[in-house]
Amino acid sequence: MRAVDALFDAYLLDMDGTVYLGDALLPGVAAFLGRVERSGRRRAFTTNNTTKTRAEYAAKLRGLGLTAEPGDIVTSGSLTAAWIRRHRPGARCFVLGEPPLLAEFAQAGIALTKDPAEVTLVVTSYDRTFAYWKLQTAFDALRGRPEVGFIATHPDAYCPFPGGQGEPDAAAVTAAVAACTGRRCEAVIGKPSAAMAVTACAGLGVAVGRTLLVGDRLATDIAAGRAAGTPTALVLTGDTSLEDLAAAPDDALPDYAVASLDDLA
Ligand SMILES: [Mg+2]
Repeated sequence: MRAVDALFDAYLLDMDGTVYLGDALLPGVAAFLGRVERSGRRRAFTTNNTTKTRAEYAAKLRGLGLTAEPGDIVTSGSLTAAWIRRHRPGARCFVLGEPPLLAEFAQAGIALTKDPAEVTLVVTSYDRTFAYWKLQTAFDALRGRPEVGFIATHPDAYCPFPGGQGEPDAAAVTAAVAACTGRRCEAVIGKPSAAMAVTACAGLGVAVGRTLLVGDRLATDIAAGRAAGTPTALVLTGDTSLEDLAAAPDDALPDYAVASLDDLA
């Protein structure tokens, strides 16, 4: 690894732990983004978190004093909606997720249903509105019906909060459905799959090899960049400590490591 010695055409920034922590902007972020924007380079914001729509994330960034529109954001929810339109057009989805994810799907024209007999695709996600009836519906839709698909928006086991707390994330919901049906997800869409970086670069009109992916987690952000072929930079403002980085195997390492986005400015 080395200090960032190159300029890139575009920057893909993870949000939580990279741009902000909880509701606080991290040091140097505004200066970094100001430089990127003034130099005519492109940037987009990414997250595996499906508990807000792209419009809500853009509003959150604007509330922190940054410039952002919904089109600047890629969430695993918007990515999953795009995946369904491409790979399962016409799917009738039962979604174990929160209202913002359902809104993202509805906006993309995806049919939603709670009737197991109508379901052709079960989608699991981060769901703090999880309830037994949802598990029952997924069970009824999938059991003995191999033609019904099963995908997850993202693989995160938990969502970390400042101060070491956290919440169970999508992997727990996915595991509940898998445990009772014996089915395995056919696709897990968010980071560390390559899809988020590839989709964001396509949206920006930039080459993946000329884009720097910046994030705070080795297993999701950095792995996604490596899978997509984008150079990667790890920031130490979120989930990964210097000790974690030192202990990581060679094939998990980022191209660059910086204390914060301030050091990229
Ligand atoms: Mg993060």
